[in-house]
Amino acid sequence: MTLTGGTVRSYGGLDLFRPFAALLVVAVHTGPLLSFHVTANYAITDILARLAVPFFFTVTGLFLVPAVQTQGRCALRPFLLKISFLYGISTLLYLPVKAYSGYFSQESPPLTLLRDIVFDGTFFHLWYFPAILLGACIVYLFVQKLNLRAALFICAGLYLFGLLGDSYFGLSSMVPPLNALYSVLFSIFDQTRNGLFFAPLFLVLGGLLSYREPRRKPCVYAAVLFLSLVLLLAEGFIMKKFSLARFDAMYLMLPFCTYALVQCLRSLPLSGIPQLRMLSTVVYVVHPLCIIGVRGVAKMSGLTSLLVDNSLFHFLSVSISACLISIPFIYYQRKKHSSKRRIETHRRAWIELDSDALRHNINELTHLLPEQCALMAVVKADAYGHGALEVAQLCGKAGISAFAVAAAEEGAWLRKHGVSGEILVLGYSGPEVVPLLERYKLTQTVISAEHARTLNSIGHHIKVHIKVDSGMHRLGIGWDDPAGLRAVYACPQLQIEGLFTHLASAETLEVDDINRTQEQVRRFYQVVNELQNEGFPTGKIHVQSTYGLLNYGGLPCSYVRVGLALYGLLSNPGDHTKLSPDLRPILSLRAKVAEVHMLETGDSAGYDGAFVAMRPSRVALVTIGYADGYPRNLSMGKGAVLIHGQPAPVAGLICMDQLLVDVTDIPGVAMGDIVTLIGQDGDAVITAGQLAWSSGTITNELLSRLGARLERLIC
Ligand SMILES: *Cc1c(COP(=O)(O)O)cnc(C)c1O
Repeated sequence: MTLTGGTVRSYGGLDLFRPFAALLVVAVHTGPLLSFHVTANYAITDILARLAVPFFFTVTGLFLVPAVQTQGRCALRPFLLKISFLYGISTLLYLPVKAYSGYFSQESPPLTLLRDIVFDGTFFHLWYFPAILLGACIVYLFVQKLNLRAALFICAGLYLFGLLGDSYFGLSSMVPPLNALYSVLFSIFDQTRNGLFFAPLFLVLGGLLSYREPRRKPCVYAAVLFLSLVLLLAEGFIMKKFSLARFDAMYLMLPFCTYALVQCLRSLPLSGIPQLRMLSTVVYVVHPLCIIGVRGVAKMSGLTSLLVDNSLFHFLSVSISACLISIPFIYYQRKKHSSKRRIETHRRAWIELDSDALRHNINELTHLLPEQCALMAVVKADAYGHGALEVAQLCGKAGISAFAVAAAEEGAWLRKHGVSGEILVLGYSGPEVVPLLERYKLTQTVISAEHARTLNSIGHHIKVHIKVDSGMHRLGIGWDDPAGLRAVYACPQLQIEGLFTHLASAETLEVDDINRTQEQVRRFYQVVNELQNEGFPTGKIHVQSTYGLLNYGGLPCSYVRVGLALYGLLSNPGDHTKLSPDLRPILSLRAKVAEVHMLETGDSAGYDGAFVAMRPSRVALVTIGYADGYPRNLSMGKGAVLIHGQPAPVAGLICMDQLLVDVTDIPGVAMGDIVTLIGQDGDAVITAGQLAWSSGTITNELLSRLGARLERLIC
């Protein structure tokens, strides 16, 4: 019912609520409590359940409005087509029911048909589709000319006007001119709850919210939601008491409740669940058929008193059968998704993260660990350019509960976005950061006795791991400095939860490197033993990062800090390691073809005319540049990208936001084609390692420089 894009961040809460919203619509049409408590049933079906459709509209606006603002008709058209398609299919589905009910035998002039199609819906519950189609067109017109606030203002006016023809009709009918106006309007459509007066407000509300990330805690929004629902109930009962309503679908409180609901759901740190989108759409479309089906089955089996007369069982049987019908659709969607693999996207350049490959890597690595040892996922530098939050969330789902970052701010940001478990800050933090460490329950690395004393002096209680310098001479308290180590234990504000070191030369298997590494390992465990023998608790012990694990497996420890291996990367392609698990890269970098130019022999292209056609050529403009992290020194044919599964060399000089590639040898390249800069396309692959090597750097540098402008999609 809304755009199902490759959206990543925090849409899980919204997705989670969709099936409930669909069931609320079922409730409106079945009245689950009708046979038990009429007033309770009224509260649910005529008041609370009215929240369902505004919720769907607002979520649609959340995605559609910003897209329409930036891409105009290009974003509107596919949306209208998709909804029209759904509307068309649903109409066909209900055509037999409509015919059976005698709709076509009444003298229904073409005008009635038209009005049903445009305003009231071709079947009673299908009003949703024309409303959102018309509403989207109106909002499109508004945002062409106005800013969102002004649009909201006008749409609120339309909504109020609708309100006076709906729940507050009792008031407007007391004013004769208004009454006359509404009676004209009601000869055009049945209700004001339609695409003119109802849908635009919620679409624009969604649009505004898309620029307003929820900043408060979910419980704050939940409290606001609760309060506004109470007011909504009060409004509904007042309406009923004074018999004001012509039809009770629109309430004054509805936009406020929707606002609180959507922000509350968005503040939950969950990632999107596309299956629930399909589930809610199918349940919404088919539930009236299920009502008919359940009645039929009940009649035939003599269970009418149970399945129909008992309103709760009626509601449940309709809901369950609608959910069952949606299963094959969800299955089909999954298959389609996995066979298509690549996410449809409106973006210019983006990163795709392969969650299956990440899970696979975690599995492979976990098998290499000794008992009692767990993976600590190193997600510093935005997870080596992969996207720290996305990676941490996926790791969390795969059972990893320890993370490492370089800076306290990185850790705080993850916490704010709902990452739980241990977060270790590997780098130095100054005393001014201590309150942040405490507030976000981060674990700080202590790098020297003086550092420990400074952190301690702030007067906040924080968790720390002690870094031992066993020979790398970068960070840490010297292995041969027992007084320095014991000084940390004398700091009452520091809760020591771990002791670790870092290996400097674990990467290669040269004799010197092996000797140096073994010496580091020996020194570190000597320190551990001494401390433990003297009764100083050492907490979690950790030594190895990726190459440490692959070349020096089996060290007794609590964690292995893996970065590279998690992402399926090794610094240099073809590195030889003792253990060689099957690791798969999880990142692909893609962009699009914006344009294709024809060049005659001798024509030049790009800055400085650096590319000169040696034959009649075609060059494609690709929507990514060095500001996105694609190295500029791959200019002039040093780099190549994949289009249609074939390599296309970089033509001329790479620009800040775009680059040209020579596609003379690839037939049929056209605007909108997807370009792979890192990753697989057909049978061809470009690995990050290859790209790093050809631009004269290492994989880590290449990936950690991928720009923040790239969106991260999980597939
Ligand atoms: C970056 C880092 C790691 C992770 O290293 P990989 O080689 O990417 O696995 C581990 N430990 C420390 C201290 C680091 O700084």
